Amino acid sequence: MKAYSHEIHEYDVVVVGAGGSGLRATLGMAEQGLKTACITKVFPTRSHTVAAQGGIAASLGNMGPDHWQWHMYDTVKGSDWLGDTDAMEYLAREAPKAVYELEHYGVPFSRTEKGEIYQRPFGGHTTEFGDGPPVQRTCAAADRTGHAILHTLYGQSLKQNAEFYIEYFAVDLIMAEDGRCQGVVCWKLDDGSFHVFNSKMVVLATGGYGRAYFSATSAHTCTGDGGGMIARAGLPLQDMEFVQFHPTGIYGSGCLITEGARGEGGYLTNSEGERFMERYAPHYKDLAPRDYVSRCMTMEIREGRGAGKSGDHIHLNLSHLPEDALAERLPGISESAKIFAGVDVTKEPIPVLPTVHYNMGGIPTNYWGEVLSPKPENPNEIVPGLMAVGEAGCASVHGANRLGSNSLIDLVVFGRAAAIKAGEVVDSSSSNPELNKLSIDQAFDRFDNLRYAKGEIPTADLRLQMQKTMQEDAAVFRTSETLANGVKKMNKIASDVKDLSVTDRSLVWNSDLMETLELTNLMPNALSTIWGAEARKESRGAHAHEDFASRDDEKWRVHTIARFSDNANSIDLSYRPVIKEPLSSEEQGGISLEKIAPKERTF
Ligand SMILES: Cc1cc2nc3c(=O)[nH]c(=O)nc-3n(C[C@H](O)[C@H](O)[C@H](O)COP(=O)(O)OP(=O)(O)OC[C@H]3O[C@@H](n4cnc5c(N)ncnc54)[C@H](O)[C@@H]3O)c2cc1C
Repeated sequence: MKAYSHEIHEYDVVVVGAGGSGLRATLGMAEQGLKTACITKVFPTRSHTVAAQGGIAASLGNMGPDHWQWHMYDTVKGSDWLGDTDAMEYLAREAPKAVYELEHYGVPFSRTEKGEIYQRPFGGHTTEFGDGPPVQRTCAAADRTGHAILHTLYGQSLKQNAEFYIEYFAVDLIMAEDGRCQGVVCWKLDDGSFHVFNSKMVVLATGGYGRAYFSATSAHTCTGDGGGMIARAGLPLQDMEFVQFHPTGIYGSGCLITEGARGEGGYLTNSEGERFMERYAPHYKDLAPRDYVSRCMTMEIREGRGAGKSGDHIHLNLSHLPEDALAERLPGISESAKIFAGVDVTKEPIPVLPTVHYNMGGIPTNYWGEVLSPKPENPNEIVPGLMAVGEAGCASVHGANRLGSNSLIDLVVFGRAAAIKAGEVVDSSSSNPELNKLSIDQAFDRFDNLRYAKGEIPTADLRLQMQKTMQEDAAVFRTSETLANGVKKMNKIASDVKDLSVTDRSLVWNSDLMETLELTNLMPNALSTIWGAEARKESRGAHAHEDFASRDDEKWRVHTIARFSDNANSIDLSYRPVIKEPLSSEEQGGISLEKIAPKERTF
């Protein structure tokens, strides 16, 4: 065992992550007088939330009639009936409150003529429980909504005296022998010092793991570090096989063009100039949910109607929109199209391709953000001292497929819920229990082994093998063959982690070592994704299995629970029932069970 000297910090709450969810949780905790620290590996306003363009869903009804019950229905249907109903109700019901709170905190939303928050249409958001026309539910600050939210929440958190530990890399959780989480071990990237945080509550808000794939819209920092820490603590991940491909990543770079572009009137065409979505989704057209549009695009390309010289992409058309509307509502994407595709959107279509965008799966939680460790006798058992929010978590409101603009609202609704819960369960007057030394030693031991890794394979090479395998074998369409192949390849790749070569042994700004730590976090996320996908013999939401083309509610309306075994590099799969009961009955103003009963998902 190698011991590293370290400084100890004591807090009521430590939030790991300063994206939208981490900052909303931090702000809420601090507002309640809890002594709160927020740890982040990048400067807070560089978190991936900053890149969110399109907007945040809430049934404000500023542009026409809307109700939270309609939003809930769309979310249930969007999830392909895999979301937990209590959490989906909580999300839709609390969404307007959470958005008005953001407005009061100072988010500069775009405005209507009347001065109310501007809302645009987004895929899958409708009226009249799916029977009416699309609704304008997505609140936006032009096409820089995430940027606006993140900057506002950071300022507000500082105002509440939350303490920030910036460019600190969380290495591992500290777990007590009785299974309670006690804190986290961190490495300070700019001076190489070590810091142990002792806290009554740890909140993981570490974002998604898009970088397990070769082509992703997410930042290079989206490496599933929370999922990695969870897996090493012997805790499970949930529904990891559900990975969202966004229909409009720029061909080549993968950079995102927001769904708001179609919300504002943009449309897709194939090589024949046909608006093909009208054929697949006569009702929703280009604003069908993402899983569906991505599959239709892939089918057009497969059937020889792809655009471009190699017939391998699709066109997104915006040039028919008035120039001032583009300049006012979509300035950021006009710029991205110029930089990354060399296209002037007022004259030409943008070449696009479905690109990995969002992880529906993650750390299982209830709708208060408390982390679950499901047992056969109690599928909703809580891990004391541990919460997860944002894309790292799985509450689960997105089930098998997330609707556009439902993530930003998830960040603030559940970041806020976690703070409310922590206010109840954390006793700030008591002292923190002594830390489990063995757990700290194990974290340093793992760190030291990677720092001095003398194997044959450079980190970047192994990462590329993983990314290519995931891209090929856990793609938009999957078959028994590609998945079985993928599992085999990923098992080998994961076992090669022991043969990694790290060449830089220093502790200051050592990006080689940091990327190696990140790779060891991506690995259990990627493994659980492909194992879960291989085992799920049906098609649901983003999991389109060509050998099992229909949804099987009898057998598969269950959450996949994946536990990682570090020694064997294997995944143990079990299943947890979906929560089917809403929070409120019809008499209490809720939605009837009949309304949200599973049915075929048509558009
Ligand atoms: C390009 C793009 C556009 C999007 N547009 C929209 C949109 O318009 N509407 C919508 O609803 N959703 C959108 N999404 C999805 C949504 O933005 C994300 O799901 C969401 O922002 C994730 O927020 P988060 O708080 O969970 O994590 P992130 O914003 O990813 O932040 C993660 C945080 O964790 C920290 N962290 C991670 N690991 C460690 C570690 N080991 N140690 C210390 N700190 C760590 C990071 O420093 C960072 O602060 C978009 C996503 C992308 C990629």
